[in-house]
Parts: sequence; C-alpha cells; structure tokens
Amino acid sequence: MKILTLHVDYINFKPLKKALKNVADIEDKHKKSVNVKEALVVLTAVEKGDSVDKSVKELVKNVKDIAKQVKAKNIVLYPYAHLSNNLSSSDLAGKVLNEAEKELGKHFKVTKAPFGYYKEFELKVKGHPLSELSREIRVEGDEKYDYKQLLREISKSKLDSSKLKDNDHRIIGQEMDLFSFNGVAPGMVFWHNNGLIVYEGLKNFMGEELKKEGYQEVKTPQIMDKKLWQISGHWEKYKENIFSTSYDKRDFAVKPMNCPGGLLIYKSRPKSYKELPLRVAELGLVHRIELSGVLGGLFRVIQFTQDDAHIYCTEKQMAEELIKLMDLTLRIYKKFGLKIDHIELSTRPKKRIGSDKDWDIAEKTLEKVLKLKKVPYKINKGDGAFYGPKIDYHIKDSLDRTWQLGTIQLDFAMPERFDLGYIDRDNKRKRPVMVHRTIYGSLERFIGILLEHTNGRLPTWLAPIQVRVLSFTDKNEKYGVKVIEKITKEIPGLRIDADFKTITVQSKVKDAELMKIPYILVVGGKEEKAGTVAVRKRGNSKIQAVKIDKFIKDLKKEIDEKT
Ligand SMILES: [Zn+2]
Repeated sequence: MKILTLHVDYINFKPLKKALKNVADIEDKHKKSVNVKEALVVLTAVEKGDSVDKSVKELVKNVKDIAKQVKAKNIVLYPYAHLSNNLSSSDLAGKVLNEAEKELGKHFKVTKAPFGYYKEFELKVKGHPLSELSREIRVEGDEKYDYKQLLREISKSKLDSSKLKDNDHRIIGQEMDLFSFNGVAPGMVFWHNNGLIVYEGLKNFMGEELKKEGYQEVKTPQIMDKKLWQISGHWEKYKENIFSTSYDKRDFAVKPMNCPGGLLIYKSRPKSYKELPLRVAELGLVHRIELSGVLGGLFRVIQFTQDDAHIYCTEKQMAEELIKLMDLTLRIYKKFGLKIDHIELSTRPKKRIGSDKDWDIAEKTLEKVLKLKKVPYKINKGDGAFYGPKIDYHIKDSLDRTWQLGTIQLDFAMPERFDLGYIDRDNKRKRPVMVHRTIYGSLERFIGILLEHTNGRLPTWLAPIQVRVLSFTDKNEKYGVKVIEKITKEIPGLRIDADFKTITVQSKVKDAELMKIPYILVVGGKEEKAGTVAVRKRGNSKIQAVKIDKFIKDLKKEIDEKT
C-alpha cells in the first residue's frame, strides 16, 4: 500500500461518477460536497500483496505516528489510485479501506471519501516540513498467487520470428542454439552453452590483445553504496537509468558503469609517476534502465558486459596513449572484417562537470590526435559524456549498415572528484588524467552485430562447434570415433562432435549447416580404406577427400592464426 499524507487547513471533495463498475452505489446524501477543516488527509492506494489485517494494522500505526507529530485529530481517508501502478483488486481495496476506517475511528474522527468514484477535490496544505509525507506500507507473506498461472506466464518465451528478417541475429541465435530471452528478465540474455563459447571466445581474444598492450585486469562489485555514485556525479546526472536497491538501511546502486569501482582500486595504493601510464581493463557487467519498448534482442539490452578499460596517465602521455588506443581498436575491428565508416568527436554537453579550461584541453587533444591519424571525423556538438569529450567509432558491416561501437573518452573531472594522485619526479603530488574506453562496446551487442555481419558464419576459432563428423552408415561409426580421437589428440580443446544417427547423410549435412559449422567431415568405407576424410567446408557444396594429417595441419593453422 502506498500512502501520501497531507496536513491541510481544509479539504473539499465531491464524488462525480463511478470509476469502477463493481462498486456499490453511494447514497444520495453522500453525493454532495464534503468539507473538513484542520485534517490529516491520507491518500491511499491499496496494492497487490496487501492484506486486510496486516496492511490496516501498519496503516493505522503510520497514521497515528504522523498525526501525533502534526497534532491532527481529524483524518480524511481518501482512496487515490494514482499513487501506484500495482493496484490490488477493487474487492480487496474496498475491504482494506472499510477496515481502515473502522480501526482509525477508534482513535480519530474519520471521514472516508468514496472508493471507486471519480472525485473532484480542493485542499490547502499547511506549509510546515511535515505537511507532506509519503510512505510505503509493506506486508510480507500474504501474497496470493496462482502458481500455474505464473508458470504459464514464464513459459511464454518463444521467439516470435514472424516480423524478423531471415538474417536477424535472434533467428540465427535460435538456430545455432546460442541464447534466448525470457520475460522474467527483460533485456537480459540467457546464454546457452554454444553462445557462451562465443562470448568467452571474444573475451579471451581481447584478453590476449590487452596483455600485449600491457594492461592489467580487475573486477569490481556489482552493487555499491549510493555515496560512490554521488561522488562520481552519476547519481545526479544519470539517476533515471540506475537500478537501485537497499541493504542494512543504506541505498545502493547496481553499477551502470565500471569507472567508480575502478577508481577505488586506483586509490587503494599510493602511485608513483613510474607506474604511469597505468592501463586497467575490466570486463564489467553493468545494468542500465531502458524503456521496455526499445529493447530488441542483443542490440538493446538492460544487462550487458562492457569491455571497459581506464588508462591513468599524465597530460604529456595523453596523446600517445590515445594513438595506441586507436591502433588497437582498428586492429580488433579488422580481425572481424569490420571497416570504419567514420568517427565522431562529441564535445561538451550542457549537463557536465569539470572546468572549462579542462574541457578545452581535452577537446583539443582529441582533435589533434584525430588529425594526426588522418581519420575522417565529424563533430558532434554537445554530445560528450558529462565528465569529458569522446570519440565514437562508427563501423560498417557486410550489409553496409553502420553501427556505433567503441568509444574513447578523455576525463579530467573524475580524477578530480575522487582526488586521484601520483607522486611525480619532483616529489610533488599531481593529478593524473583518465581515459575511458571500450572497443567491442558491449559484448552482447557486438555478438549480435557479428552474427548478422557473418550471417552466423563465425570464424572457425570462434564457432561454437568447429568440426562435425558424420557417418555414412552405421558401419562407419568406429572409424568416425577414431578420426575424432586422432584430431582431438593433435588439437586439444577443439570443439568437435559427431552425428552418427541412422538418418540419411543429406539430412545430417542439413542439420550441420543450420548450425553453421565450419567443417563437416563425412566418413564412409572409401575414406576408411584410404585413411582420409571427405571434407565439406562451410559455404562450399564441394566435398573433397583429404588426408587426415593434412586436414589437422590446416585446421590448426587456421585456428591458431584466427583467420
Ligand atoms: Zn569509465
């Protein structure tokens, strides 16, 4: 139940007409305007899960408490549905209100406005600090639910593909058994085994690249005290996108970004100039509130994994770090055959923190580096992050569509807010500059783009199943097992499986094609005799007899080189 209490000089109200069909008619004498002076008006909305005895008891306790503080003797109990979007049935609400009137009547003079009616009202609230108080009254353990109905609701997770294009990643994802969605977790991915292989593959690939670039890796908590986000400025500038929760009577935010947690790690030990530039990566899971209407497969999610990194450096090191970052970003995109369409430089927004002087330096540095790298860019005025300007990468996929992926953001404000420092050569404490950057953007979205870009034909090193062995007839099963053993011995960790079902080879090939498996090996009597396998490469209908050793050698090379 939600209540809003108003301590008023007076209230006038009058029922107009019924808002709910199933409420009883009120007598004519109650249809006229009612005026109550010097009252505590209690606006109420009875919600699902409320119960007559427990909710009323809590309500009376709350009202007594407030009335005592404001010294009110008259109570106006006023049903007000607008307080909640989780209203109970009208039957329960009616009962709760009648009981509340009775119980409050033992302590106060109570006037109850009719329930289930449109009413007009006019009131004058007193100006003191306690004149407007809202409370939520919660009761536990009484929630009534129909388990079978709930089960029906959560079982409705089937993908409606009627409005999707054939190459939509949601369809590919279903065919390849990569992931699914369920209404119990809007905008959050259920990764299946195959999908998690792709996710982990991308994660490990990035990890290897970052090691080459001298990055460290960290992991920070999922929920952190509100005060951290007040320091960072997210609470003020970004509140409407933050999931919040509470514990131990403290307010917490489910992290929408990784930076503040990372800053605490930076601060946990004193730093010397010798440690800079310090490159710290966090593959962090973040949650951001989005309107449910705009959610769509992996492209727009509420929960996602950012391939985040923060680079702490001196102002002098800034340009060089940015150049390194741009080279790395380009190298990663190239690996997936994604071309850069253009880059956008977003400058200071209206809602921002930090001094104009710092914004000048930051914007100029980004522009200088872009010019130096000779990359075409557009200026996106006023679209920077609230803590600094940024450059965003827009890439082009195989279908000539453009996507915004990575971002590089310069930030003088966050180090200031968190009082970051390092001891410089001259023994003086100085402030580092911070660079925030992502390359994939979000792993979830990147996988969606990759699936559509390749039409599910992921490179062999990333494919969930890399090789499938099919038997021609039951007689060839033994040889098939031998082939798998031999290949696995040479390439441990290879994702290879078998289809020895007693159905035609054609239908087995069809199944494997739907899964977009890079290599299909067919083994029959002829192959067994010759010590070969019949190789069918994805996207190629030609079948070629290849010696097993040769197949292994070529496959190993392809996977190792990630081509
Ligand atoms: Zn950041």
